[in-house]
Amino acid sequence: MTNGTNERIEKLIGDAERACARSFADLEKIEETNTRRILDAFRTHSVALRHFSPTNGYGYDDIGRDNLERIFADLFHTESAIVRPHIVSGTAALSLCLFGLLRPGDHLLSVSGTPYDTLQTVIGTAGDGVGSLKEMKVRYSQAELGRDGGPDLKAIAAAICPDTRVVMIQRSRGYAWRPTLSPDEIGRAAELIHRINKNIIVLVDNCYGEFTDIHEPTHFGADVCAGSLIKNPGGGLAPTGGYICGRKDLIDRISCRLTAPGIGREEGSYAGSYRPFYQGLFMAPHTVCQALKTAVLAAAVFSSLGMETSPKAGEKRYDIIQAIKLGSPEKLIAFCGGVQAASPVDADCVPEPWDMPGYEDRVIMAAGTFVAGASIELSADGPMREPYTVYLQGALTYAHGRLALKEILRKMLENGLIR
Ligand SMILES: *Cc1c(COP(=O)(O)O)cnc(C)c1O
Repeated sequence: MTNGTNERIEKLIGDAERACARSFADLEKIEETNTRRILDAFRTHSVALRHFSPTNGYGYDDIGRDNLERIFADLFHTESAIVRPHIVSGTAALSLCLFGLLRPGDHLLSVSGTPYDTLQTVIGTAGDGVGSLKEMKVRYSQAELGRDGGPDLKAIAAAICPDTRVVMIQRSRGYAWRPTLSPDEIGRAAELIHRINKNIIVLVDNCYGEFTDIHEPTHFGADVCAGSLIKNPGGGLAPTGGYICGRKDLIDRISCRLTAPGIGREEGSYAGSYRPFYQGLFMAPHTVCQALKTAVLAAAVFSSLGMETSPKAGEKRYDIIQAIKLGSPEKLIAFCGGVQAASPVDADCVPEPWDMPGYEDRVIMAAGTFVAGASIELSADGPMREPYTVYLQGALTYAHGRLALKEILRKMLENGLIR
């Protein structure tokens, strides 16, 4: 690498970083507010060393588990919560909610368009339908988001029918080019839905959204929200797990599916320590802030190179995903190669596009994480199709995110992909 390349990279990043100062300051304020909220909850619930102890067997009176659930409920302003290592992923948390709340003959309505890929086999709109809601005679339909990218209140009102039992809203853009929904936008939709029928349950897929704002959707009237502990709320430390926060009667129903009717939340041990869940939650506002700063910097750098980004560098964020239209397969491969080469784990792997089951186009993915598949850690992926959009998320530290961006730029400059 020439000195010129190095200087060029330093200048690109330095200039972008200076332009981000205001956004960074705003993000650090959110971090402080959320850290205070969490600290308050830890003090209210007298967190002590004994809460970190492992348990085994049935797990009756597991104080570490029960206290963690009370803390989550407090933070999300809900009556109750389920926070468990046994919930294997975000999809599993959402699937538990759906199977816990829906009964044969009920109608499930998604009001943020097509749900996240992995939920489609749960609903039964993809795959062979075995074990799906469809097989359980739950009817499904969806309302698309409005032209402004927000919930389309007219379309929602028109799609609700007497059998509608659960309305599902996905906060994050996921892997789509659309704005993320803010907690209060979700709240406005929830208010309308409850005005039409107060018995309808508003369920939020909160994955990737936690602690990006000082509010969560349940602060504004969503009935239940769920997500993964190896994304935002695990702070990069939780080794596995999922959470569900919501109204007590609904959490009670869901907990019948978690274990068994009559047992609910009373059972469930964990032979590892609960410390990483508590410490991860405590770290989460900071980790999320580091991921957001990395995303803002990436948006600033690549928009300075003429590429379109969503969100834009200075835009308010409600999830940790940064989408960038790179414009060519070579750039997408170089981008993912840069992320992988700059990873603390598996840095010697070279990501390649592959035919992933369930996807129409080949997909390329880069991740070298301490917790397998944890996307609060730095990772990037994208489908091999026009306009070659990469989705970047995570970074446990901003310094790591910044170094990875340098690596990406180096690969692009050396291969003549940017000038
Ligand atoms: C990650 C994610 C999921 C699924 O979570 P997994 O842990 O990958 O199963 C669902 N919805 C959204 C919006 C997500 O980002």
